[in-house]
Amino acid sequence: MSRHDLPTRLVHPPQDRDPRTGASSIPIYQTSTYHQADPEHLSRYDYARSDNPTREALEQAVADLEGGTRGFAFASGMAAISSVLMIFQAGDHLVVGEDIYGGTYRVLTTLFKRWGLTVSFADGTDLERLAAAITPATKAIFVETPSNPTLKITDLAAVAALARRHGLLAITDNTFMTPLLQRPLELGFDLVVHSATKFIGGHSDLIAGLAVVKDPELGRRLRQVQNGFGAILGPQDSWLTLRGLKTLGARLEQQQRGADIVARWLLERLEVQTVYYPGLAAHPGHEIHRRQAAGAGAVLSFELANKGLALQLLKQVRLPLVAVSLGGVESILSYPATMSHASMPAGERAARGITDSLVRLSVGLESPADLIADLEQALATPTDPT
Ligand SMILES: *Cc1c(COP(=O)(O)O)cnc(C)c1O
Repeated sequence: MSRHDLPTRLVHPPQDRDPRTGASSIPIYQTSTYHQADPEHLSRYDYARSDNPTREALEQAVADLEGGTRGFAFASGMAAISSVLMIFQAGDHLVVGEDIYGGTYRVLTTLFKRWGLTVSFADGTDLERLAAAITPATKAIFVETPSNPTLKITDLAAVAALARRHGLLAITDNTFMTPLLQRPLELGFDLVVHSATKFIGGHSDLIAGLAVVKDPELGRRLRQVQNGFGAILGPQDSWLTLRGLKTLGARLEQQQRGADIVARWLLERLEVQTVYYPGLAAHPGHEIHRRQAAGAGAVLSFELANKGLALQLLKQVRLPLVAVSLGGVESILSYPATMSHASMPAGERAARGITDSLVRLSVGLESPADLIADLEQALATPTDPT
């Protein structure tokens, strides 16, 4: 691992310029294959599903940032997660945090269920429940912190220790934090996945996924899936992701500052019932989060007095995109009830605090004062009933 600080490593990844020409950006190797001068001994590059230099530069960059031995770039966050799930086999059992990303919940309960992978969901904030869900067939624990959309905090070091005691792999989705704020491998995790579509790409113009492993043998298993199943990230999108990484530090720092200001403003509003943001001292996971992460991030959610007010806010805001996704340079307001958690049965949703009056805000790079003024006018402007 590099000796430099993370902000430096974002700008100077292991390959920080083109080795052939010195160009300041890694070229987009738009190729499917490579000429073999010696047909008996193929070169390091033989076919671009297996190896592409642009993708490789990105994979090395993310491995360096997470402190792992090997990185992998996939066509989407879900391609990364699904490829990771393919290292298991029929009959294997996973213990999964119940507040896992909706798409992960979906592939586990549909596709992978058909292939014989069994899953128990348990509250990731409750170590005893996670431990109680472990069976003799369990092979891994998969958690996500902060969780979506109510930003619940899981104690990563404690989960890693639990996994180690039972000989299980510890896997986490680090999308909300990025390696800049949270490095699970250093806390004992074996495997980290990301939707690079979010903060890492950062500009709402890309779908991409990443995975990083600590152990080289696990890396060989995942490499077999990446190369065999083939859900790789293309060279253009690898280049965009590399470009996104360079400004991640500046973006996230400013977006996080904005989120903190907006969260504290929301706390004072009478229309707002609850604010979920791990940066607030009243957040139940505040202390654990502070121990394991370098910041609270730029995503928060809040519960309005009623559903009508939530819908009014979504319809009347002008600055934020009202959309699925997060982590872009523009603020993004989403409505979990019909967006990220639409496929979850209403009862399950209610049990997780995902009500019809809950909205999630990913704070962008706008000035916090403008954002607050916009939220204020939206809350004060009833929608035309006609
Ligand atoms: C968006 C997201 C994913 C899925 O990533 P895609 O790039 O959309 O496939 C996975 N996990 C989390 C936490 C996400 O926010």
